[in-house]
Amino acid sequence: MQITVLGNGAGGPYSGRHYTAQLVQVENHLFLVDCGEGTQMQMHAFRTGQDRIRQVFITHLHGDHVFGLIGLLTGWCLKKRSDDLQIFSPPGLQRMIETMIDVCGIRLTYHIDFQEVDANQHCLVFENKKVQVWSVPLRHRTACCGWLFREQPLPRNVIKAKIDEYAIDYRLLPGIKSGDDLTLPDGRVVPNAELTTPPRKSLSYAFCSDTAPSDGVIECVRGVDLLYHEATFTDEHVAEAELSYHSTARQAAEVARQAGVGTLWLGHFSGRYADPTQHLAEARAVFANTHATEEGEVRAVESIF
Ligand SMILES: [Zn+2]
Ligand SMILES: [Zn+2]
Repeated sequence: MQITVLGNGAGGPYSGRHYTAQLVQVENHLFLVDCGEGTQMQMHAFRTGQDRIRQVFITHLHGDHVFGLIGLLTGWCLKKRSDDLQIFSPPGLQRMIETMIDVCGIRLTYHIDFQEVDANQHCLVFENKKVQVWSVPLRHRTACCGWLFREQPLPRNVIKAKIDEYAIDYRLLPGIKSGDDLTLPDGRVVPNAELTTPPRKSLSYAFCSDTAPSDGVIECVRGVDLLYHEATFTDEHVAEAELSYHSTARQAAEVARQAGVGTLWLGHFSGRYADPTQHLAEARAVFANTHATEEGEVRAVESIF
């Protein structure tokens, strides 16, 4: 599981930062999370590739998270995309995009399946063989949900020497990897624990932008390996954070600490700050394993548990 930060700014294209967008890659599956203005250009600048995206997850309909979407969708038409696309979001996005398609006379070359989700529910919205994606209700000025990516449980590792020792038919291996015991031709049963070792832990990544600090978020992201939490402001502007339903870096760190996550990533920095040095200092006072995201960085999700 690997994350690419395309944009980590808020409020305006100041201090060299772009609007929110990330790519989440799980093996060969590529997901786009939020799509602020300029996302297509950031993907181009960082040569991330974008043609493998089949699912897009939008947290909410504020422009800094969604105004890049129409450009990306029409860009794909110019490339004659034919693969279906699913877009998950709180209600309203389908109306917005279909209106633009209609008014602008865009001829889509592919099918879009809009999946509008209830931003107040923590539920499974998508899964394939490799990953599950859950909605995470956030506290913001409009319907808003984060997205929690969890690798599917991994198969157990079959011990190669045991395959030889018991001459195990390869057709039985999928069952053994999922926990089956082995019955030998003479009727004896070999327990699974003798044949396999446990897999590594499934990794998890939670993307939470934009939100005021929330007990609900703490419950939903408990124990994840990596939490991205917005940190629009520093302590100095805590009153403004409260009014606008955003968080300070310290509040983001408090969420990370209470949820017992592995690593905290900060982003969605207000354009008034030239750099996130102060955010980082205030957050690390609460939760040491904190990192301030940088645009263009690519990081594998790792477990420290
Ligand atoms: Zn917002
Ligand atoms: Zn925002």
